[in-house]
Amino acid sequence: MTIKENLLEVIEDIKKYSPYPEKVKLVAVTKYIDEGVIEKVIDAGHNILGENKAQVIREKIDYFKEKKINIEWHFIGNLQKNKVKYIINDVNLIHSINKYSLAEEIDKRAKQVGRVVDVLLEINIYGEESKQGYDINELLLDIDNLKKLENINIKGLMTMGPLAVDEKITRKVFSELAKLKEELNQKYFSNTLTELSMGMSEDYKIALEEGSTIVRIGTKLYKGTL
Ligand SMILES: *Cc1c(COP(=O)(O)O)cnc(C)c1O
Repeated sequence: MTIKENLLEVIEDIKKYSPYPEKVKLVAVTKYIDEGVIEKVIDAGHNILGENKAQVIREKIDYFKEKKINIEWHFIGNLQKNKVKYIINDVNLIHSINKYSLAEEIDKRAKQVGRVVDVLLEINIYGEESKQGYDINELLLDIDNLKKLENINIKGLMTMGPLAVDEKITRKVFSELAKLKEELNQKYFSNTLTELSMGMSEDYKIALEEGSTIVRIGTKLYKGTL
């Protein structure tokens, strides 16, 4: 298999499993690979990339800027406040707002550089302790304050599927996230939440069926190639 073949397979699956494939964005997660292999992803025609570490994404952004290769960068990992500065100028979507103080820091830095940064709120649907993400009750307490931050644009929700082997539990988590988005849209956001970032290599088909608009795929793209 080549990266291109793996990419095409995911793109076919998006058409097959999503109720609205034209709305779905594929983020190629490149945290496993270095710049040389990323070039193969780009050569295969894909330039929407996701990374989970601030310093690493900074280096990769600089590498491709130098080469004048245009990339849409997604930050998908746990972001420490003191590292926001590394990514604030260049990142297109931050998937992982999990507390007010982080949102506040991103807002402050965005203001300093004259940007409004698109973000998602990361939700920990079942309150699993091993997971990052807002507990729903904590989120409800912060919502009014989050909405007041003028230099972030909250576009939707993100979650990590459970490690469960049971497909039913995975499906439940994704459908709960979709339901939460609807509720938040009605009560607080007047339908401005459009994105649901859910689904990785192991569970993206289920996520698509449950309405995902952004799938974050790593491992599957490099299968048989590394
Ligand atoms: C690594 C990672 C992915 C991709 O996971 P794969 O199982 O390799 O597809 C997606 N989302 C986040 C937040 C990640 O850290």
